[in-house]
Amino acid sequence: MDDLRPPSSSQPAPNGIRTGRILQTVISVAILLATMATCCTPQSISLDIDNLVNVLLTPPAVGPAAPLAATSQRQVRIGIVAGHWGNDSGAVCPNGVTEAEVNLTIASLVQQKLTAQGFQVDLLQEFDPRLQGYQAAALVSIHNDSCEDYGPDATGFKVAQSVSSRDPNLASRLTACLYDRYRRVTGLPFHAGSITVDMTEYHAFDEIASSTTAAIIETGFLRLDYDLLTQRPDLVADGIVAGILCYVNTESAEPLPPP
Ligand SMILES: [Zn+2]
Repeated sequence: MDDLRPPSSSQPAPNGIRTGRILQTVISVAILLATMATCCTPQSISLDIDNLVNVLLTPPAVGPAAPLAATSQRQVRIGIVAGHWGNDSGAVCPNGVTEAEVNLTIASLVQQKLTAQGFQVDLLQEFDPRLQGYQAAALVSIHNDSCEDYGPDATGFKVAQSVSSRDPNLASRLTACLYDRYRRVTGLPFHAGSITVDMTEYHAFDEIASSTTAAIIETGFLRLDYDLLTQRPDLVADGIVAGILCYVNTESAEPLPPP
C-alpha cells in the first residue's frame, strides 16, 4: 500500500509528476477492467465483486458476551444527571454533607469511567437546559435518599423508569440492568418500598427526546449507607457503569422484583 502514502520527502511531488501518477493509475484500472470484461462472463464478475464486498463488510467474529470495541462505543452518547446539582442541596446530613455533593462525586466518576471506555458522556445538572429534547442511548439520573433516621430497614438502593415511557421494553431493560449490576457490584439490597412518584414521574423523563431510554437510581440512604456512599464512591460508580454497559451491550439481566 506504499502508493497510497504521502511522499516521505517533505518536498511535494511536482504537479506534472503527480498528474502522471494519477493518469498511470487510471490507465492501469482501465486495463484491468478491460481484461476482466474480455475474460469473464458478467455473472462471474458480479459474483467476484459480491464476494469482495462481503469480505470487506463482514465484521470479525466475536463471542456473544464480548463488549463493543472502544472505537465502536466512541459514538454512543450517554447522559448522566447529577441529582440536585445546580439547583438545590437535596437531603442534608447533620454533619453538613449534602445529597447534591454526594450525587456529583458519584456522577463525575461515572462520567470518567464511561469516557475512558470510549463513550461520549454528558454530565448534566438537575434542570440542565440540554435536557430539553435530549438524545442519547441512555440517560441515568443519580440521586440518594434521606439522611434522616427511618429505622434499621432504611438501607439499599432503588431504580425506576418513567411511567410514561414510549418504549417500556427498553426502559425495563435499562432498569433491570441497573438493578442487577448495581446490586452485584455494591452488595446493597434493593429497597423497592421507597420508590416514590418523584422517581416514576421524574421531571427529566418528560423533557428528553422520546427516543432516549431513561432511568433514575437512588444509590443508597445517606444515613445507613453513608460510609459506602461517601467513602467508596468508586464502587458505587462501578455499579452504575456496569448497569449502563449491560444495557448498551444488550447483556442479560435479572428483572426487577415485582412491586
Ligand atoms: Zn434527590
